[in-house]
Amino acid sequence: MNAPQYDAIVIGSGAGGAATAYRLVQGGLKVILLEKGDHLPVDGSTLDIQRVVHEGKFLSREIWKDGRGRSVCPEEHFNVGGKTKWYGAALLRFGAHEFQADSVHQCTSWPVSLADMEPYYQEAERLLGVRLFDTEPNLADILCRLKGKWDVEPIPLSLAPCITADRVEATHFDGFASVAGLKGEADGSILSLLRGHPGFTLSVNAEVFSLLGHAASPATIVGVELTDGRRILAPRVFLAAGALHSPRILGRYLEFAGLGKLLPIGAHIGRNVKLHLLTALIALSGRSMTDLLRKTVVITHEQFGHSSVQPLGFDSELIATLVPKAVPEYLRRQVGRRSYGFFLQTEDGSDPRNRVIGAINGADHPVLDYDEDRTPSAAREHKAFTRAFQWALAKAGFLTFTRRIGLNGTAHACGSLVCGEHASSSVVDRHGQVHGMAGLYVVDGSVLPRSSRVNPSLTIYAWGLRVADRVAKQFAGGFRHA
Ligand SMILES: Cc1cc2nc3c(=O)[nH]c(=O)nc-3n(C[C@H](O)[C@H](O)[C@H](O)COP(=O)(O)OP(=O)(O)OC[C@H]3O[C@@H](n4cnc5c(N)ncnc54)[C@H](O)[C@@H]3O)c2cc1C
Repeated sequence: MNAPQYDAIVIGSGAGGAATAYRLVQGGLKVILLEKGDHLPVDGSTLDIQRVVHEGKFLSREIWKDGRGRSVCPEEHFNVGGKTKWYGAALLRFGAHEFQADSVHQCTSWPVSLADMEPYYQEAERLLGVRLFDTEPNLADILCRLKGKWDVEPIPLSLAPCITADRVEATHFDGFASVAGLKGEADGSILSLLRGHPGFTLSVNAEVFSLLGHAASPATIVGVELTDGRRILAPRVFLAAGALHSPRILGRYLEFAGLGKLLPIGAHIGRNVKLHLLTALIALSGRSMTDLLRKTVVITHEQFGHSSVQPLGFDSELIATLVPKAVPEYLRRQVGRRSYGFFLQTEDGSDPRNRVIGAINGADHPVLDYDEDRTPSAAREHKAFTRAFQWALAKAGFLTFTRRIGLNGTAHACGSLVCGEHASSSVVDRHGQVHGMAGLYVVDGSVLPRSSRVNPSLTIYAWGLRVADRVAKQFAGGFRHA
């Protein structure tokens, strides 16, 4: 085998990959970041409703099967910055209790605590420029009329303060990619800091197919193989291809190297996938809604400890797209103008049957076998939470419509290479290192043991920074090999 060309390879440039690459380069490692997709265009098309929403131009076309063999196309994004280019920029920390187990809700504990993550949360918030925004009048009025024990907190948003001066960007950040750079995300806020750095190479349109192991010791990873046949060597490889993709890369390698049955982790690859139980809700009133920046608060209720609601960052035109297509176009627009959109999410627990399975051979499709009936506590809470919020809005004078997000809604997918103390029940240890293997780390949403009641990105950025921080310190201390 030739000498390593880099100190580290990072696979994937989303939240986890960008944060990891940043800290490694800062720590003096020579890093190559391999990204399957390309840079997004900056011609305005990423803000265009027709192209983004109706044509799905920037979404993956990869066909999967669900657990019953039906076709499904997960809403994944393959581009520099990953899904963070498209996210709604709500960057919340998990609560201290969300690092602990909750057996009733099928939630397993993290091998780290909130205190362990604290410095990395802070660093991620600094890098992403997280801040609070004022609540605008329509939302303030709705909140004021909500009866019951609803608790309202401002959402930390990774948006530039001047976004409110740009109507298009302010109403198109949730589900769209900023052209003016007004949203903090993995590419614009983190990778841009590395551009031109001699220790950093970003290779786009570079899809990793599998890992490369040491000839005499296949549990030691020494590089990667791309789909175009290229081989790149480094003593440390960081998987950050996202929760639907990293387990397929690792699973493929274990199968090829004959390690799947030898290593205890083989039994857990791809299992315990979590997606959040998600519902979009439209609240219709008699009055026009004119708020510009809408996603400024998170709403919770003490009776529903695993759930939260956020307003959708959408304006009327986008809300109209959520109204059933059977309703005439004109009416949909009217509804859009008089509505506020909300997004309800409930933490789903872990069940090993909820899993990602890689294609068994080239001709097959990957499988996303996920059924919320396997996490009945979450399913019950989500239904009750949705009803309670609808009821509160009804009492406040709103007519509500809901739409459950289906299996293709993989925005918050996580937990498919879960971290934990023991190889007998998890894939990755508290340092992000794969149990029983050398030179291999996981730094994306795959590691999350719990999905929590809020959005996952800040925790993924923080995990990437934390894992890379330790490796960078070891590197500085002279441990040049993983
Ligand atoms: C519309 C939308 C709204 C969202 N809103 C929020 C929000 O408000 N707040 C929040 O916290 N989260 C939000 N999310 C979720 C958030 O974007 C994800 O949780 C986060 O981006 C996941 O980070 P990751 O590093 O695990 O994966 P990703 O960000 O998906 O990055 C994975 C990267 O790996 C690349 N890749 C995949 N396979 C390969 C391969 N074989 N070789 C090389 N590269 C590969 C992909 O192209 C991608 O760039 C939202 C997501 C969407 C889609």
